[in-house]
Amino acid sequence: MMRLDVVTIFPEYLEPLNVSLVGKARARGQLDVRIHDLREWTHDRHNTVDDTPYGGGPGMVMKPDPWGEALDSIIESGDGSEDASGDGGARPVLVVPTPSGKPFTQQLAVELSEKPWLVFTPARYEGIDRRVIEEYGDRLDVREVSIGDYVLAGGEAPVLVMVEAIARLLPGVLGNAESHRDDSFAPGAMADLLEGPVYTKPPQWRGRGIPDVLLSGHHGKIARWRRDEAFRRTVLNRPDLIRRADPAAFDKKDRET
Ligand code: SAM
Repeated sequence: MMRLDVVTIFPEYLEPLNVSLVGKARARGQLDVRIHDLREWTHDRHNTVDDTPYGGGPGMVMKPDPWGEALDSIIESGDGSEDASGDGGARPVLVVPTPSGKPFTQQLAVELSEKPWLVFTPARYEGIDRRVIEEYGDRLDVREVSIGDYVLAGGEAPVLVMVEAIARLLPGVLGNAESHRDDSFAPGAMADLLEGPVYTKPPQWRGRGIPDVLLSGHHGKIARWRRDEAFRRTVLNRPDLIRRADPAAFDKKDRET
């Protein structure tokens, strides 16, 4: 079972982790999710977690003390069952959401889905005192991750995004294990291409039909059509993906499309 810990000042923000795919994975015992309130590791009357930035400037910075105590206590709670490395010590991967991190991609979701234990540190204000990242960087695999080139008010929404992307890759979590095989960005035959359009019943809707090939029952032709549509959509919406792809991944038909 994969273990996920999240430390936040807004535990209620993570309630969607009780719903749908992630909620069901928890209920089935495939995911052990533990949400922690950072303020439990404060010791003053106001449960202070932030202070003014050194060097001046606007905004507040999250203090290192509560984060250090919270992370130490969570790391120490590892009982070894999360450790797949076989070297005896249970150590989580620390995932730090930040707009200045490396991009969160499907590839990173796959990599993180193979880890037995992840600890997420969604911040607020101007982020966490840098020394916390350095301190745990010396002991753990720390990943500073951005979910996109925009700035949110806090890291909780990024955690929801990452956990959902990771959880659906865990064995047995999706009803049909094949479902993510053809997803946009999925490694394999359609690597580097976005997924093309999809259709379901009825065959006619508001005067609009569906492409004949999808009714042909010809698997080869359907696969080719899907690839052509994926290619077309990628050229239109994400030409950057085509430019950085290995040219060997494309065939003559792609070039004509
Ligand atoms: N001053 C910071 C900067 O410009 O990099 C922005 C801090 S933001 C207001 C507060 C917190 O929200 C961040 O520390 C991070 O936890 C989260 N956050 C905001 N945007 C994010 C993004 N694109 N990806 C991941 N986390 C994000």
